[in-house]
Amino acid sequence: MTIVRFAPSPTGYLHVGGARTALFNWLYARNTGGKFILRIEDTDAKRSTQTATQAILDGLTWLGLDWDDGPYFQSERMSIYQKYAQKLIDENKAYYCTCSVDELDEQKKQAVSIGRAAGYDGRCRDTGAKQGVLRFKTPDGNTVFYDLFRDKFEFENSLIGDFVLVRSDGTPTYNFTCAVDDALMGMTHVIRGDDHIPNTPKQLMIFAALGFNPPKFGHLPLILGTDKSPLSKRHGAVSVMAYQEQGFLPEAMVNYLALLGWSTSDSQQLFSREEMIEKFSLKRITKNPAVFDMEKLQWMNGVYIKQAKPEELASLCKKLQKEETEGTEETKNIQLEEIIKLYQGRIKVLPELYSLADFFFSSEIHIPEEICQEILFKDGVQETLTETKNVLSALEMFDPVTIEEAIRTLAERLGIKAGDIIHPLRAVLTGKKVSPGIFEVCALLGQERVVQRLNATIER
Ligand code: GLU
Repeated sequence: MTIVRFAPSPTGYLHVGGARTALFNWLYARNTGGKFILRIEDTDAKRSTQTATQAILDGLTWLGLDWDDGPYFQSERMSIYQKYAQKLIDENKAYYCTCSVDELDEQKKQAVSIGRAAGYDGRCRDTGAKQGVLRFKTPDGNTVFYDLFRDKFEFENSLIGDFVLVRSDGTPTYNFTCAVDDALMGMTHVIRGDDHIPNTPKQLMIFAALGFNPPKFGHLPLILGTDKSPLSKRHGAVSVMAYQEQGFLPEAMVNYLALLGWSTSDSQQLFSREEMIEKFSLKRITKNPAVFDMEKLQWMNGVYIKQAKPEELASLCKKLQKEETEGTEETKNIQLEEIIKLYQGRIKVLPELYSLADFFFSSEIHIPEEICQEILFKDGVQETLTETKNVLSALEMFDPVTIEEAIRTLAERLGIKAGDIIHPLRAVLTGKKVSPGIFEVCALLGQERVVQRLNATIER
């Protein structure tokens, strides 16, 4: 059975790269009917926080990436690491080193000056020291692995040197805890960012020293911005939760993240979650850097908004929306859903609704000067608006079909084009030159507000 994991260090929010790593592991587990384990790597007490752990759990939950096992906390597993450290000491595969920082610096300088690698040279190997930092006795030779997504990697062990397993304060290092846990938890595949490539030979050596079978390793390509520099705040939000706050849908986010380094042979862009699970394969993960393109993400989000149920969008909007809107709770809900229906084909992120459809949400409407000049101050417009108001206020039913009929009849009677009524009417009701169909807009605003806005403009 496939066993994979996501193993974040809780030192900040869940960022885009971390979410992509989690997603690929999750997809692989679901695709193969395997197990996805969540492990929080919080041995660094100074940098790990409860808030960050929660942010990571929230991010995964928002994306719908459920784990089958865990979360395990490395901070609760210290006795396990101690046990394996002792095993390595007993087997003469690790030793205490008492070199001071100055000595280490000096040694490094010398090594570099004679053109040797700067890894620790092992001078404390045979001192029999009983305390200090615990170092791994790196064996001679080379460490080789075949990356799942790349070529062969080969490292000269002497260049790595005797690296630290446990610090002098007793805390184990990342490479040590990671290897021990991946072994004990039965990982079959380790899929993670390519920034971990230099750690892999160290972890492989620890696996070998402890007599464990290593998993397969695959390193995911870097994520770049559209300018080809590594993804950073300059390219937009890096935290996954910021996308929730900005009105992105988790389904769109997951779909987008899945394509950062993976594709199908026919370059399919849109996937349901089930389809994504079914089609996912490690064979089609690329080693080339992936580009995070905000415009494409927005486009994709727009597609998902268009397909979403209005009531679901309404409840998301209500969570995002801080300002109060008019009306009772019930009419607000109905209104919001109806407004969403008018706009869901036009917006890319949810908050756009509140700028495009602001005239639905507030009683005050502002008509920009430019629109007044261009549309409302023209000859005859005041009379047309007065006639329109009379006709609309007399209607007994106020649905789009009735309104349209009334406007077209009025245009005929006045001997003008329907557009000569519709453009000023739109300006008055929405303060804009473009909007969804004006008859739908009228119906949704309601007779009272329509007449009120017409009156207010005519008086001006
Ligand atoms: N805890 C490590 C990190 O957050 C990842 C460990 C791993 O995937 O091996 O970078």
